[in-house]
Amino acid sequence: MHISSGLNNDIIRVGIVLPEDKLHTISLSWAPHLGISADFPGLGTTHQIALSTEAGKIRINGATTHELLDEITLICPDDISLLSAEYGIHVEPVIAGRGFHWEKPIAVDLPGQLKISVQDDCFKIINSVNIEAYVACVATSEMGAEAPSALLAAQTVVARCWSLALAEAKHISEGFDVCNDDCCQRYQGTTFLTSHSLKAAIDTRGEVLVYDNQVIDARYSKNCGGMVEAYETVWAGGPVPYLVPLWDAPLQRAGYAVDRIDDFWAYDDAYCSTKRFDSVNLAEMLGKVDVSGSYYRWEQQLSKSDLLKNLNKYTGIIWKQITGIRIMERGPSTRIKFLFLEGIDELGAYAEQLVKSEYGIRQMFSNSFLYSSAFVIKNAQTLKEDNHIVLQGAGWGHGVGLCQMGALGMALDKIDYKDILLHYYPGTRFTTL
Ligand SMILES: [Zn+2]
Ligand SMILES: [Zn+2]
Repeated sequence: MHISSGLNNDIIRVGIVLPEDKLHTISLSWAPHLGISADFPGLGTTHQIALSTEAGKIRINGATTHELLDEITLICPDDISLLSAEYGIHVEPVIAGRGFHWEKPIAVDLPGQLKISVQDDCFKIINSVNIEAYVACVATSEMGAEAPSALLAAQTVVARCWSLALAEAKHISEGFDVCNDDCCQRYQGTTFLTSHSLKAAIDTRGEVLVYDNQVIDARYSKNCGGMVEAYETVWAGGPVPYLVPLWDAPLQRAGYAVDRIDDFWAYDDAYCSTKRFDSVNLAEMLGKVDVSGSYYRWEQQLSKSDLLKNLNKYTGIIWKQITGIRIMERGPSTRIKFLFLEGIDELGAYAEQLVKSEYGIRQMFSNSFLYSSAFVIKNAQTLKEDNHIVLQGAGWGHGVGLCQMGALGMALDKIDYKDILLHYYPGTRFTTL
């Protein structure tokens, strides 16, 4: 039977350094025994080079060539059987958390082919890597080294499906399939690879979930908040038959939460509920969780002046004052889908705008990035007089598909990775490519 996917072959092209990172110097190094090959002369026995941009070209320091080059390629064997922690070409710096408040330069170790070029006088690096090696690295980058094996296996299959489906294809015009960051899937090469996560990749090699003989578009996020969200709440073009609302719990409860928010907030029995992780070291299981705290239920506040600044930035209206924030529609998990803003603009005239984006709402209501759009305004009654807006919310991320903390909760309950995946993607089936 033919299984179709979005990726044309078993090589995925990952954008590692992008022109927007504005990097002009990069250093590369590798262990001498790796058998690195390069397409430029003069590498000799060197296993360390420093690159800099010069007149729109690449200068190589460390090799014997003094020519300025347009593009260079280095290749490191990338069969999954060769991988181990820090295997590959060590590249430094690489930007992690691009555009987020935790953005920082890191170093990564990359197997496969590195194509290095200069665009707008800044470096661009694309890593073409075997899909199985990529998936093993993503599962570790997304999860902690001590995650239970069922969680690692589930995350590995999800990363494989998401990569093969390539449904979002955000970067095709930039010459690669996915970027290395949270915008797509977090990929930090083999840097944090463990034998444990590598085993999950080898044990599930080629395994995918399909629906109608097509690899599924396996969306996932950190914490659904108790109910998995419907695809069409977050993205246009839905619904998708296996990305549907469901309670993230052993038993499906009657009805959806959207009509009874108080009841929903009180529900604490979900797989991703905080109380399941009382005695668990989340950092070890979920990796370097970027912000500490509770994600199942949370409270955040924002000064009204900062809210105005954000609204000015993201709505295209210069607001002098906001007089009304109305929640027009929520998805099943209580995530806000449409929000209506009313106020006075810079000229003193009445202004209004309908915000139709879960992502946009999260940008507007926080100075960093709001955990989710599943919130209520706690001080709605006194908002006119208060200096702050106080948000009470649930979950972290869009909430569609697999809930990573819920999958951890299930794995801690000794549930098999296949049952975990069939819980989050109902109606799909397993097959091996
Ligand atoms: Zn991306
Ligand atoms: Zn959940």
